Amino acid sequence: MKYSKLCELYDNISGTPKRLEKTDILAKFLKELADSDKEALYLLLGEIYADYDEKRIGISNQLVIKAIAKSTGTPNEKVVHEWKVIGDLGKVAEKLVSKKKQSTLSSHSEVTVQKVLENLRKLPDLEGKGTVEKKISLITELLSSASPKEALYIIRTLLSDLRIGIKESTIRDALAKAFFKESKKDAIREIQDAIDKSNDIVEVFEMTKKGKLKDLKKVHLEIGKPIKVMLAQKAKNIKEAFEAVGKPCAIEYKYDGFRMLIHKKGNEVILFTRRLENVTKQFPEVIDYVKKYARGDSFILDSEAVGFNRQTKQYTSFQNISQRIRRKYDIEKLQDELPVEVNVFDILYYNGEALLDKPFKERTELIRKIVKSSPYKIIHAKQIITSDEKKANEFYKQALKDNQEGVMFKNLTAIYQPGKRVGHMLKIKPEGRDLDLVITGAEYGTGKRSGWFSSFILSCKDEKTGKYLEIGKMGTGVKEKSTAQSGIGISFNELTEKLKPLITKESGKTVEIKPKIVVAITYQEIQPSPNYNSGFALRFPRFTALRPDKSPSDANTLDNVKKDFGRQKRNWRYG
Ligand code: ATP
Repeated sequence: MKYSKLCELYDNISGTPKRLEKTDILAKFLKELADSDKEALYLLLGEIYADYDEKRIGISNQLVIKAIAKSTGTPNEKVVHEWKVIGDLGKVAEKLVSKKKQSTLSSHSEVTVQKVLENLRKLPDLEGKGTVEKKISLITELLSSASPKEALYIIRTLLSDLRIGIKESTIRDALAKAFFKESKKDAIREIQDAIDKSNDIVEVFEMTKKGKLKDLKKVHLEIGKPIKVMLAQKAKNIKEAFEAVGKPCAIEYKYDGFRMLIHKKGNEVILFTRRLENVTKQFPEVIDYVKKYARGDSFILDSEAVGFNRQTKQYTSFQNISQRIRRKYDIEKLQDELPVEVNVFDILYYNGEALLDKPFKERTELIRKIVKSSPYKIIHAKQIITSDEKKANEFYKQALKDNQEGVMFKNLTAIYQPGKRVGHMLKIKPEGRDLDLVITGAEYGTGKRSGWFSSFILSCKDEKTGKYLEIGKMGTGVKEKSTAQSGIGISFNELTEKLKPLITKESGKTVEIKPKIVVAITYQEIQPSPNYNSGFALRFPRFTALRPDKSPSDANTLDNVKKDFGRQKRNWRYG
């Protein structure tokens, strides 16, 4: 397929703010999409591979600037200047390519979707000497034969910022519309299930095209391919939790670590986070524990990896071990200093059979059969099965004493629903004043902090529009000095280095930042405020940890903020 056809689609979709119209346009496109062009769907989502694949383009603004400069024969500074004026490198490329085309009188473009994918897919694989030049030449090759419009979308794709307002759910609805005449609701549900299991929009497209709901059910779990995890809703108290999940139910510790999905097939063990990132290399000890203490030819376990202190044997908070998730060097040293214990609480697959539709009681019993509990290595998540509120309360208190976050209530007959926030698994934890928010802006400091960002704009997500809305500015909790030694927390210069490649706009001392980095913060109070577009402001927000295990879509939402504000009003200051 010609890339220009896809660009036309991008334009048509971004041309309407109405979701239904977007769906209609997309449904028409999907109906006509040939099998040989199906990978265009990855590009539509702003990606180059399926969601389950970890490879991301990961190109910085600086490299894109160089590539635009080279392919259009423009000095670097001029590109930077244009960027400052226009604020969108895609539009800058469109303008400069258009100028060049006028001067060379060429308007012809032969860029294909396949060629765009081919070149972009080479980018994440490049390593070592000459990488930057090779990357620039791959981009330049595309830009040199692209039309202005194509250049706009190539650059936006490179920067993972397509700005056309398509989400996975838009494609899901359009697939239902294109290929199912009746029972749209059922179709949407089945398509979503298939997406959550496979994390591959192209595979789901192929199945959906057949037009039969039962074909969609054939999308199976696969060992080695990450799956979206099942998430919990919140309960206010034990009584409410029992009402929601029924009696008796399972109650487990809610461990304060990070989610780890463990896949095993034969002798191979692969570990994933809830963001579908492969962290196998970072946790060699876990591989040993699984091989030694878990029986079965193949399985997928769901668990929480928790840090503990080797001397005192006390559990530590997530903040301590978060650095292990991304760390690529000193793995052994870190493993020694920051050991983790794996707490297994679910099983999704065992010896060739998917267990998603089996009741939780059966799944949890199977864990007890195949995993030999070995404290400070791998254990069954602590669990009681009860109908007794008093016992539940004691268990909850014990969990908090053991430095854990709270408890989970689980319905014993419930199935496992990947990717869903379900009402049959509820969490209870003490009312904290904490939120996971996304950094969407920053301001350069002065004096000894000049050259670094010294304050950071925090945003929550508006679940209705998908936009990030500002809720406060944070500067406290970030350290003055490098944390490379202690490994705990983050310093101003370290956070600045992380954020710089994500700058989308600069004006004076302030910058806008692409929503990518999630941080855990505490605060003293939520107040209504006209100063931020969320309508709320946090008093005294304080940084506590980076959340590399969470993607921006996992951050707290405006709805969460409103609820926390409501509770605070009832419980606290306003009596
Ligand atoms: P929170 O910020 O409160 O941890 P969350 O957004 O991380 O919430 P939730 O689905 O709301 O995720 O809470 C469930 C999380 O708790 C799981 O993602 C998992 O990482 C963790 N967890 C710890 N212990 C358990 C357990 N026994 N069963 C299920 N999840 C557990």
